[in-house]
Amino acid sequence: MFVLFDPATRLHKAEEFLSGKLMPAWECPARIDSILSSLESTNHQVVTIQLAGSDESRSKDFCDLVAATHDASYLEHLRTAHSVWVAEGALEPHGSVLPECFPVKRLFNSRSLEGNLEQPPTDIFARSGFYAFDMSSGIAEETWASVMASANLAYEGVRRLMESGDGKRLKSITALTRPPGHHCTTSMSGGYCYVNNAVVAVEAIKKFAARKNPPYKPKIAILDIDFHHGNGTQDYFYSKRDVLYVSIHGQDEFPYYSGSEQEVGEGEGEGYNLNLPLPCGSSVEQYLEKVKLAVRRIEEHRPDYLVLSLGFDTYMLDPLGAFKLDTEDYAAIAERIRFSDLLGQIPTLILLEGGYVVERLGDNCVAFLDGWERRLD
Ligand SMILES: [Zn+2]
Repeated sequence: MFVLFDPATRLHKAEEFLSGKLMPAWECPARIDSILSSLESTNHQVVTIQLAGSDESRSKDFCDLVAATHDASYLEHLRTAHSVWVAEGALEPHGSVLPECFPVKRLFNSRSLEGNLEQPPTDIFARSGFYAFDMSSGIAEETWASVMASANLAYEGVRRLMESGDGKRLKSITALTRPPGHHCTTSMSGGYCYVNNAVVAVEAIKKFAARKNPPYKPKIAILDIDFHHGNGTQDYFYSKRDVLYVSIHGQDEFPYYSGSEQEVGEGEGEGYNLNLPLPCGSSVEQYLEKVKLAVRRIEEHRPDYLVLSLGFDTYMLDPLGAFKLDTEDYAAIAERIRFSDLLGQIPTLILLEGGYVVERLGDNCVAFLDGWERRLD
């Protein structure tokens, strides 16, 4: 398996407010180091990509894609908030921009005042709350560089999947996307996520497919197996039927306001969103039952491409998860997904989401990738 890595994804190092404390975020650069270290003794091939050194036209193509999928003023906020706060004396250079006041609809009983919450405020403190939904996603000095590098890995993964010649067609690529992406919407950060890498990947697939000769409209499925519900990804595709979103996640856990079985999509997209919540404390046997349901629904959709949002906060010791999965279980999960004739064949982009036991993250990731490749032998 080719594993795409950009050194710039290691730069982002922020603080979060959690359990009444300001602390270094669990989502930290050492996560990537752990994965790279475990990959060293395997046959998986790490491919280093540097966004700054990319071909100009490809970089422009990527930047256009991010701009087309995410709110322009939100992106500008991510890019500039840290330097603006430092320049105004509101933050030490090593600190993180964190929100302290959010535009909440229930603030007003009168509907006529709700419009007050729609316009980006000019005050820098108010802006940080306007563009975030929690206090986990601090904006530090190098956050923007890592966010762009991470999203670019998603884009590059798609490009390589779709441009590989038929003779040696790549079936799967992993992108070590850090920071992760599945929680942020296209105008709000949250859950350690800033730009939604799955959204970028899916729209890149569509863009490349439209350029093929003859052009075509691909059907795509997203399988999200991070411990937490991918609210941002669900939200983006909720009313679309060409993209099926399926998520297995902890019931009633972060991000708390989404992830129920009743959320099935709307309008044209009704029936194209499947949430499979599992109670905290669930075992690998219970997990694999949900994987079976997820795979069955994806097979019905008959996608041309799969995007896999892969998190390892399902690991039994994870500080932010509550399932009972062990390292070898990741191989079993990967094999179960690929056991499907369809999913064993279609091109797949694997994106890294969460996973916060740094000491075990690398081995858990390798176990999954080994299980995934085993099916190909
Ligand atoms: Zn997670």
